[in-house]
Amino acid sequence: MTSFSLDGKQQLIQGVFDEFVRRMEATGDAIHPSKTTAGDWWAGYITYGHDKVTPFEPEAAKRVALEMCLEAGVEIMLHTAFVDSVVVDGVMTHAIVANKSGLQAAPSAVFVDCSADGDVAARAGAPFELGRPEDGLMQPMTQFFRIRNVDDAAVQRYQHEHPEEFWPFQAIVEKAREEGKFPVPRKGVQLFRTMVPGVWRINTTRILGVDGTNGADITRAQIEGHFQVHALVEFFRENLPGLEDCVLLDTAAVVGVRETRRIIGEHVLDLRDLETGRHFDDVIALCGYPVDIHSPTSADGPFDDSDFKAANAYEIPYRSLVPLAVEQLLVAGRCLSSTHEALAAVRVMPPAFATGEAAGTAAALSATSGVSPREMNVADIQAQLLRQGAYLGPEPTYQAELA
Ligand SMILES: Cc1cc2nc3c(=O)[nH]c(=O)nc-3n(C[C@H](O)[C@H](O)[C@H](O)COP(=O)(O)OP(=O)(O)OC[C@H]3O[C@@H](n4cnc5c(N)ncnc54)[C@H](O)[C@@H]3O)c2cc1C
Repeated sequence: MTSFSLDGKQQLIQGVFDEFVRRMEATGDAIHPSKTTAGDWWAGYITYGHDKVTPFEPEAAKRVALEMCLEAGVEIMLHTAFVDSVVVDGVMTHAIVANKSGLQAAPSAVFVDCSADGDVAARAGAPFELGRPEDGLMQPMTQFFRIRNVDDAAVQRYQHEHPEEFWPFQAIVEKAREEGKFPVPRKGVQLFRTMVPGVWRINTTRILGVDGTNGADITRAQIEGHFQVHALVEFFRENLPGLEDCVLLDTAAVVGVRETRRIIGEHVLDLRDLETGRHFDDVIALCGYPVDIHSPTSADGPFDDSDFKAANAYEIPYRSLVPLAVEQLLVAGRCLSSTHEALAAVRVMPPAFATGEAAGTAAALSATSGVSPREMNVADIQAQLLRQGAYLGPEPTYQAELA
């Protein structure tokens, strides 16, 4: 999704995100977002909120992530699950992890929870919310998959011949739904061309009523997701122009979870903050992706509810990364402090990069200075982020800190 303002004019998320993309682009494994356009096949023929997306190959992302971590001296622990947090007098001191070596207690001066589900913060006793306020339901899960042997030109031809459609193959899918022949509880098909000719990635399965923090639910969702994938491939082959001979290439390693715990922090980012583009003195990231809610109960969404309009660019404050109740802990990515609606905008990958970079930077400064994340002078974090190439707005008052 976009790393730019909604109008596509200003790249808001730079820093580590931009370096990551440019490294993939250097080997022909990504297209820089400045070179893609709303409504093109990289954007799945969607226009609203889909200008300046970043097509990339997942294998390249794995390689670049490893390269960048190793170059930075990160001690990586793969095949390791976080299990529990040790908290002494309100201060987090150790993460308990499990792997082939058994259980281990990992000490740290500061912890950053980027588990998306807020596992570390929740186990440490930080307060959190789960689901929307009225019924606790969360956005549905989706098992992503890729198909090969697609006739790219035929897909493109259909889209150009049907400029009236808001999403690909709309008329065909709507007719199939009316006849009860569309195999998943979703309004439409989302398909995105990949960097490899003939290979497309599909975001169309929908598993409703599941909680990604519940082991039984996530297993059920994974199983249901696989069955939906096969049913959809069959539907594509029988109904969609250009997909007559498509074949399932692979499914994503894990079922995709859009929403779980939102850790409550010093500031809860809300819809009003996004709508007004509210300025925060402790801004650590700007984003332009709109509120993207897939209905927790039906086939609707995303982008059905025009009541939720985010500003062209909006800010995330540092305080949304600082959980209440636990010291020496930060959160970033999908579990940051926000409401159900605001999370629906900032949950995507570019904002996760930006908040991750801010939390990591704050953690490093905290560890070296001995000042707790809650007590830190945010201007120091902002100055370091600017040095690292982050963008914090058109007139960064924080520039003074750089001098
Ligand atoms: C179906 C679907 C489609 C999407 N499409 C897009 C898209 O097109 N573009 C876009 O920008 N965003 C998209 N998103 C959103 C985006 O993928 C995520 O919201 C984003 O990756 C969140 O980033 P994160 O770093 O917070 O979490 P994640 O990327 O989920 O990373 C969390 C990591 O923590 C690990 N982890 C979690 N718990 C533990 C534990 N207990 N122990 C050890 N490790 C653990 C996980 O294995 C994972 O590696 C989509 C999401 C879904 C579900």
